[in-house]
Amino acid sequence: MIKRASGLLLLLLLLPALGRAEWLSDQASVMGTRINVELWHEDRALGELAIATVIDEFKRLDEKLSPYKTDSELTLVNRMAAEVAVDISSELFHLLQESHNYAKLTQGAFDITFASIGHQYDYRTGKKPNQQSTRQALPLIDYRHIRLDAKTQTVRFLRKGVQIDLGGIAKGYAVDRGIALLRERAIEHALISAGGDSRLIGDHRGRPWHIGIQAPRKKAAMAAVLPLADTAISTSGDYERYFEADGVRYHHIISPKTGHSAKNVQSVTILGPNATRTDALSTSIFVLGAEAGMALIDSLDDVEAVIIDRDGQMLTSAGLDSFH
Ligand code: AMP
Ligand code: MG
Repeated sequence: MIKRASGLLLLLLLLPALGRAEWLSDQASVMGTRINVELWHEDRALGELAIATVIDEFKRLDEKLSPYKTDSELTLVNRMAAEVAVDISSELFHLLQESHNYAKLTQGAFDITFASIGHQYDYRTGKKPNQQSTRQALPLIDYRHIRLDAKTQTVRFLRKGVQIDLGGIAKGYAVDRGIALLRERAIEHALISAGGDSRLIGDHRGRPWHIGIQAPRKKAAMAAVLPLADTAISTSGDYERYFEADGVRYHHIISPKTGHSAKNVQSVTILGPNATRTDALSTSIFVLGAEAGMALIDSLDDVEAVIIDRDGQMLTSAGLDSFH
């Protein structure tokens, strides 16, 4: 009796080590959003390790880039850069350079100094700056107030009061870092998503991944579902972080020109080669609005867009049909 039972036990213990190939997934709450990692691996233990590595990478970046953590590198910059040129890591320097490039490309629609006003909002409690403090802070929003010195790898703010926040690009960057870590491990089928920013490696083993675009004014309903493989996709929406007061929707994407929430569209989805790019562009096009935004997307040959305009109409860029 005892003998037979131990034989069965041995078999059960061996089973996980046989390493059957399968789909694996895990979720975590990091960077104020939901992280989801899904992948196919021939070996369950290695697959699970790969997922844990990705989630750790998100935590590392959150520690470094969060504007809310008092000891993050970004907070240090916000505290010091108006006084002295601050020595920063090459990773943060790279992200500030990327942000500068998107600011130039979008003629200032993407501008990380939006935070000079943005940090006066709290979307959970409905806190917002009054007219006077918005007016006072508006001149602080200008990416040209940030001086980057590549030689010394330092950053300096040219005006007192300037604040920066990488919320429009950091999640996409983290997704790209996670994808790089999976590629190093030769993983051929995977999805990483962080809130509205996702990137895919390969397909879903013989069929495409299906990525939904949320219907902006209907909870848990999709406006569209796209069959995709090997691409990045980001959505920016006015329904993600917002409150309403006096009939106005105050949400988290700020027009640098006015200091108020951008009003021209309900959501913007960008498809492209990497998530840093689709993240930065989804936020930018949201600010630019449907017309100027679509014109910019059509002028770039590696990205496509699905815009849901302020009336709820869906607009798509010229090359979307042939995109895969
Ligand atoms: P996303 O959901 O990718 O569109 O990112 C929205 C986040 O981008 C906000 O929560 C802010 O942290 C940040 N953001 C808001 N307005 C701007 C802007 N005009 N330029 C750059 N980042 C912004
Ligand atoms: Mg974005």
